[in-house]
Amino acid sequence: MIRYHAAWILPISEPPIRDGWLAVDRGRVVALGAAGRRVLSDGAQVVDLGDVAVLPGLVNAHTHLELSYLRDEVPPASQFVTWVRGVIQARRQRPDPGGREILDAVDSALNEAVACGTAIVGDISNTLVTFGPLTRSRLAAVVFYELIRFNAPDPAGVVAQACRAIEALVPTERVRASLAAHAPYSVSPLVLRAIRQAVDRDPFAPCSIHLSESAEEVEFIRSGGGPWRGLLEEIGSWDPDWVPPGGSPVQFLDDSGFLDARVLAVHGVQMTTADLDRLVARGTTLVTCPRSNGHTGAGAPPIEDFYNYGVKVAVGTDSLASSPDLNVFAEIATMRALAPTVSAGALLDSATRQGAHALGFNADYGTIEPGKLARLLVVNMPANTEDVEEYLVSGIEPNQIRWIEDV
Ligand SMILES: [Zn+2]
Repeated sequence: MIRYHAAWILPISEPPIRDGWLAVDRGRVVALGAAGRRVLSDGAQVVDLGDVAVLPGLVNAHTHLELSYLRDEVPPASQFVTWVRGVIQARRQRPDPGGREILDAVDSALNEAVACGTAIVGDISNTLVTFGPLTRSRLAAVVFYELIRFNAPDPAGVVAQACRAIEALVPTERVRASLAAHAPYSVSPLVLRAIRQAVDRDPFAPCSIHLSESAEEVEFIRSGGGPWRGLLEEIGSWDPDWVPPGGSPVQFLDDSGFLDARVLAVHGVQMTTADLDRLVARGTTLVTCPRSNGHTGAGAPPIEDFYNYGVKVAVGTDSLASSPDLNVFAEIATMRALAPTVSAGALLDSATRQGAHALGFNADYGTIEPGKLARLLVVNMPANTEDVEEYLVSGIEPNQIRWIEDV
C-alpha cells in the first residue's frame, strides 16, 4: 500500500481536501482524508507529492480519433456547412483512408490524450479502426460505431450489419463498443429507430448523436430547406420522400423516442430553453465541445443555460479536424471563459464524474472514492494556491501533468 500526501486532493464527490492524503493498494483507492486527522501507521509507504492537486483522470466524452490525420487540414469556417464541405474536400485529398497515415495519427492522438490527463474517451468511429489501438492503450473507452445514412432503402439491414461488426470485436475490461447516429439531419428516421432498438437490447450500452449543433440543422429539421438540404442533394444523399418533422431537432428526436438517460447528445449550440427542459426530463447527458463549435462556425454554446437548467453536462474536445488538441483541460478553460457564472467545481465535475457516468464507467472512474481505480492525475501548481478548482480550469498544460502510478 502507498499513502500519498498532497497539497490538494479533489475527490469530486466531495469538496477539495487541503493537505490531504490518499491510500492506494493494488491500483485501487483504499481511503482518503485530511492530513490533520491522524492516519493509521499501517506500514504504508509514504510519498509526499508536494504542491500538487490530485484528481480523477479526465473524460473526453466526444472525440473522433480516426480523424486525427486531418489535424490542421480543415480551415475554420463562419458557417457549419462550409466547414463540412472542407472536411469532404480534405478527405478526398487523402485517398487511403485505411492506411498507415490514419493509424499513425490515431496512435499519436492516443498518446496525446493520455499525456493531457485523459482516462476515458467516448470515441466516434465510422470504420472501427480505432478499436484495436484503444485496447492496446492506457485509455478506457466506448467506441461508438457511427452510422450516417440519410437515404437508406433497408434501414434495418444497415443497423443489423453494424451490430454484427460490433459483435465481431472482442471487448476488454476497459474498451467497449456501441452504436451512434451521426445527427438528425444525416440519419433517416427509420435508421434512427433501428439504432435505438439495437441499443435497447443491451441494458448498459450508451448511445450518441450530434444534436442541435448548427443553425443549418435547425432550419433543415424545421422546414426541410436551407444549406444542408443543398449539400445532401449535391452529394447524392437526398431522399425525396423525406418529410421535414418541423419543430426543433431535440423535439424531433424526443418525439421519436430516441432520447433517454443512455444518450449522449453532443453540442447543443442551438438548443432553446424548452429543448434543455426536455433533456433534463429524459436524463440525457449533453456533451459540450465549445472549441470545435467556434472552429466549425456552429457558434458559442449557451453553457450557462446548460447548467442553470440542470442539464447533465459532460465535456468533449471533438476531433482534431475541428479542435487544436485533445486537451480536456483546455476545453474547460474555454468553458470558463464562455460561462463565467458557472462554478469551477461544476466544470471539473463535468470533465470527470459526468463523463464517466454517461459512458458507463462510473463504477471505476470519475471520482476519488474507496474501491475505485486509482487512475489519478497529479497536477503541478504554484505553492499556496488558494482556489485549486479555479486554478485547474485556468488551462493546464501536459507538462504539468503526471499519472499517479508514474510518480
Ligand atoms: Zn463529433
